[in-house]
Amino acid sequence: MQQEKPTFHITTYGCQMNKNDSERIAGLLSSLGFVFTEDESTADLNIINTCSVRQSAEERVYGAQKKYLIYKKTKPNMIVAVTGCMAGRDKARAFKKRLPATDLYFPTPDMVHLPKWIAELRPELVNTGSGLEDYLRIRPVRAPSVQAYVTIQTGCNKFCTYCVVPYARGLEKNRSVKDILDECRELATHGVFDLTLLGQTVNSYRASDPENFSKENPFQDHFAALLWEVNQLEGIHRIHWTATHPISMTDEVIEALTLPKQVNYLHLPVQSGNNEVLRRMNRKYTREQYLDVIQRVKQARPGIALGTDIIVGFPGETREQFNDTVSLYKEVDYDVSYHAQYSPRSGTLGVKLYPDDISKEEKRDRWDELQGIMEERTLEKNQAYQGSVLPVLFEKKEQGFLQGTTPELKIARIRSSDESLIGKLVNVKITKPSLWVLDGELADL
Ligand code: SF4
Repeated sequence: MQQEKPTFHITTYGCQMNKNDSERIAGLLSSLGFVFTEDESTADLNIINTCSVRQSAEERVYGAQKKYLIYKKTKPNMIVAVTGCMAGRDKARAFKKRLPATDLYFPTPDMVHLPKWIAELRPELVNTGSGLEDYLRIRPVRAPSVQAYVTIQTGCNKFCTYCVVPYARGLEKNRSVKDILDECRELATHGVFDLTLLGQTVNSYRASDPENFSKENPFQDHFAALLWEVNQLEGIHRIHWTATHPISMTDEVIEALTLPKQVNYLHLPVQSGNNEVLRRMNRKYTREQYLDVIQRVKQARPGIALGTDIIVGFPGETREQFNDTVSLYKEVDYDVSYHAQYSPRSGTLGVKLYPDDISKEEKRDRWDELQGIMEERTLEKNQAYQGSVLPVLFEKKEQGFLQGTTPELKIARIRSSDESLIGKLVNVKITKPSLWVLDGELADL
C-alpha cells in the first residue's frame, strides 16, 4: 500500500516579504515530499509565519494557540512551528512562554534547519536535510499566477527608532545578482510577466557579485543596475519594487524609474514632515532632502503616482509638528498614503528613549485628519481618469467583476465573467472612478 504523503499548512501574517518567505517554506517542504493542505486541523505540520509590526499582530498569534491545542487533542503528533518576526526579535525567548502549543520556534533564516528538526520530532516524515545554509536560495513555491514577488534583500541597517525589523530580521543581507536573475528568468518561463522586487530598503541593494552585471549595463548604482538587467529579461513586462528609503534614491535610481517596464508608481515612505520628529525617528533625512528627492522624481517621470507611509503621534510630536506633516503631504500631492498611529514596540530604541506621551484620542484625531485629506485628494485624482483608457493587468475575478491594476497601481475593474482575461493587459475605459476603485468597461470592444 502506498504511504500517504505528510501534509503542511501555513498561516501567514504581515507583509509581502512574509508571504514570499512562506512560499520559500512551502518550496522547502515540497522538496521533502510534503503536500499542502487547506485543512489546518489535520495537518502534520502547521507553520505560523508571524509579524511584529504592531502589537495586535502578535496578539493574534497568542490567541490562536488555543486552536492548535484543540487540534492536538485529536492529532497529538501534529507539529506546530512559529517563525517570522516574533521569533526573530524574541532573543530572550520571552514570547515563547505564551505559545504553549508550539513545538518549533525559529527566526526566518533558520528555516533551512526545518528538515533536521522535523526528523527529530517525527522521524517517519523526513529523512534528509535541506543541504542549504542560506534560506534565500530555497526556491519559493507559488500559486500559479502572472505576478510574483522576488525577495532581493532581507534585514535592515537603518534602525529607525520605532521599528522592530533590524531586531526581527537582522542586518541587511542582499542576494547575488545571479540568483535574483535566475529566479526572474525561471518565473518568466512559467508565464510570470509582472514582478515586484522586495527588500526592506530595496533601493539600498548592493550586489555581492557585480561582475555578473552585463557589460552594456549603463548604471553604476547596484540597484539601478539590477533594474536595468530585469528590464532586459524576455517575457517580463511590468516591474515594481518596494519598500524604499529616501536616502538611497540616488540619481541613477531616479533615472531607472524611466526604464520602459517600470510601473508608473513610486512608494517612498516619509513618516513625518517635521525635522525634529524625523531626527528622533532616526530617519536620516530632513524634510528638505525628502522634498528634493520628490522634485527630482517628478522631473524624471512627470505624472508618476506617488505613495507614502506616515506615523502620527510619535512621542513628543506637537500639533505644530504634525501640521508640518500635513503641509508636506499637500506639497507632494500623493496619490495614496498609509497612516499608522504610533505604537511602542518592545526592544526598539524608541521605547527606551521616548515615552509614549500622545494620548490615544489625539493620535486618532491626527489620523482622521490626515486620512480625510488623503481621501479627498485621492478621489479628485481618480475622478480625473473619467473617460480615459488605461492598460489594466487583470488579476482575479471577484463578485462578478474582473479586477486588476493600472500602471499607477490603482485598482480597476470591469463587470465580466470572462476569466480568459485574467493575466492579460487589457485596455479599459474608465466610466465610474471612485475613491478606491476605477470602474470601467473593455475599450477594445
Ligand atoms: S528603514 Fe527603518 S522603518 Fe524601514 S525597515 Fe529599516 S528600520 Fe524599519
